Amino acid sequence: MSVYDSLDSITEELSKCMKCGNCQAVCPIYKESRKEVGVARGKISLLEFFLLGEIEMTKGLADRFSLCTTCMACNNNCPCGVRFDKIILAARAEAVRKKGLHPVKKIAFSALKMQRVFDFGMKTGSIFQAVALKNIPNRHSRLARMRVDIGIGKEKVFPMLSRKTLRSEFPEVITVKNPKMRVGFFTGCMINYFYTDIGRAVVEVLIENDIEVVIPKSQACCGIPASVNGDVGSARTLAKRNLRAFERMGAEALVVACSSCGTAWKHVFGELLESDPELKLLADKWARKSYDISEFLIHQVPFKKEGLGRVLRKVTYHDPCHLNRGQGISKEPREILKSIPGVEMIEMKEAGRCCGMAGSFSLVHPDLSAQISDRKTSDITQTLTDTVATGCPACRLQLQSGLENAGVDEEVLHTIQILAESYRTDKR
Ligand code: SF4
Ligand code: SF4
Repeated sequence: MSVYDSLDSITEELSKCMKCGNCQAVCPIYKESRKEVGVARGKISLLEFFLLGEIEMTKGLADRFSLCTTCMACNNNCPCGVRFDKIILAARAEAVRKKGLHPVKKIAFSALKMQRVFDFGMKTGSIFQAVALKNIPNRHSRLARMRVDIGIGKEKVFPMLSRKTLRSEFPEVITVKNPKMRVGFFTGCMINYFYTDIGRAVVEVLIENDIEVVIPKSQACCGIPASVNGDVGSARTLAKRNLRAFERMGAEALVVACSSCGTAWKHVFGELLESDPELKLLADKWARKSYDISEFLIHQVPFKKEGLGRVLRKVTYHDPCHLNRGQGISKEPREILKSIPGVEMIEMKEAGRCCGMAGSFSLVHPDLSAQISDRKTSDITQTLTDTVATGCPACRLQLQSGLENAGVDEEVLHTIQILAESYRTDKR
């Protein structure tokens, strides 16, 4: 039984917790709030009381389960091997079963399932975004703030929607001469609608390495925003749609440039669809051939070193939680960066500490998210670098926002953009 269907699936995980409190030391929420409910142990206790029937699933209890960035730091620091990532997903799914989904989330996740409507909404949004958002002069990114505070803090920084989506910029199949391989590119929403520059860099680097790229138009959101918020039905619909989209086009491998999308393909789809043997088989097949772009370029088709030009950047790298702890990928992006001539790497303190973004967490808990971000910004500025590299578009946004709010002139890029820049420099 999956964590998305019943709390029975996590009773063993709950029983492993000996309440030692080791998770306190690494929890970004606890570090800022100093409240027991912020840490894994506190939420485990609440869930145990609920299972014993001593408390009910009220809105207040559901809100407490929202106090987690799902950074998985507690998993790693737990002497008993408690998989808190599973516990929190099960708790949130149970909260939705008992109390229903917040109306705003309900509208958002319903829209995600209607691809054409969603595309149209984003296109319209890209034209009229200036009505609600005020552009921030930033030489590195197209960022904006809300003109009116709608309860998520006026200092919250947003990326501007791209006029053209990434998927509309390319044909479904990008051919190359003598391809080494045919690879599917799952763009994810952030890259398709906001950070199209990351998507273009992925395509550029794959072509440079003689890879035929397939970008199915019918792919949708990975469903992670829905699954982490307990909307299991929507997450399942999206998982099926994506699997079918890539199965129809066919590819020897699939790459992603977003840590949440990677987690979805490698771990979440299979678990969501485990009660349907045919779909489970399909999900497992694609999980085995899904790779983060840095992992793919190091282990599957080692990227060409001969075409790399000099890139004069002092770079520090931030590990996205779902790439580092979720997929065990931290050496690969560093290896790519270190192989680029001219790049000087300087490690920041606790590069693997959560940046505080965590999707809707940053909107539901803007103050906490900003506090976690401030700590990260301070670690970055101490490196005296000019560029932060990372492996996730959501982290890119959070890091750039933190730097912007602190008045620090530092660019945040995806690792693949620096690699693409290097190939480009060589050609020039
Ligand atoms: S570290 Fe693990 S065992 Fe200790 S309180 Fe936290 S979850 Fe429980
Ligand atoms: S997953 Fe991260 S934020 Fe959530 S309880 Fe564990 S350490 Fe804290």
